Amino acid sequence: MHLPVDGRTVRLRPLAGADELAIAEAQGSPLETALVLLQRLASPADDGADDWSALSVTDFELLLLAFRRGLFGDLVRSDFFCPQDGCGERVEIEFSLADFVAGVTPGRPRGVSDDPDRPGWRRLGEAAFRPPAVRDQVMAQAGGGADLLARRCIEPPNPPARLKLRCVSAMEAIAPEVSQTLEGVCPGCGAPVRAVFHVPAFVVAEVQRAFGRITEEVDLIARAYHWSEAEILSLPRRRRQDYAARIRDRGLAA
Ligand SMILES: [Zn+2]
Repeated sequence: MHLPVDGRTVRLRPLAGADELAIAEAQGSPLETALVLLQRLASPADDGADDWSALSVTDFELLLLAFRRGLFGDLVRSDFFCPQDGCGERVEIEFSLADFVAGVTPGRPRGVSDDPDRPGWRRLGEAAFRPPAVRDQVMAQAGGGADLLARRCIEPPNPPARLKLRCVSAMEAIAPEVSQTLEGVCPGCGAPVRAVFHVPAFVVAEVQRAFGRITEEVDLIARAYHWSEAEILSLPRRRRQDYAARIRDRGLAA
């Protein structure tokens, strides 16, 4: 997969049982867990570094969505309850990830040039900036927020307000946000409703739900066939699920 902001090409290897277990057991924030996932599965097609925390947030989220499409398909279905007083109607949201990411189009605003001395940095007038990386976002979440992001990604750290604004808007054009707020109308009361589609939170919640059954599957198969944990984890996901389903069926039939 080609990453539009960083300009790199990355491969995702097929998921193995050990990956599922690691993700099911991961303890950190969704962002940190998503990082664990990509550190395990993604490898650079070039000779570049494979520290994915240095990836721009845009490319990181696009890569996560590519992984999700490979595993669960293109369609996203999600529902929540209308927050309007006295309504509480179930609102369903459904969309195609291909359509969703087609709207993410990194551009290059006028006046911005690559910084010849520092890869990843761009120059704009008297200032320089780079698109926020995943590690910046992890640090911002840990405390410091948007101010910390600006301090790490714009130089000099306190440019004049107008220049800072231009840098921020150039940054957003070069590395547009993938996560966004979806808007719709409640079918019950007609009120406008909004749902935040945060890519790491969505993908991590979904895979942790799906991967959460792995220990039960290992347990079932180990009891039935007396294979070791390592042997069972080395099975392709589909086959492991198949064996577990057969064992459950037999259990119900007995
Ligand atoms: Zn409603």
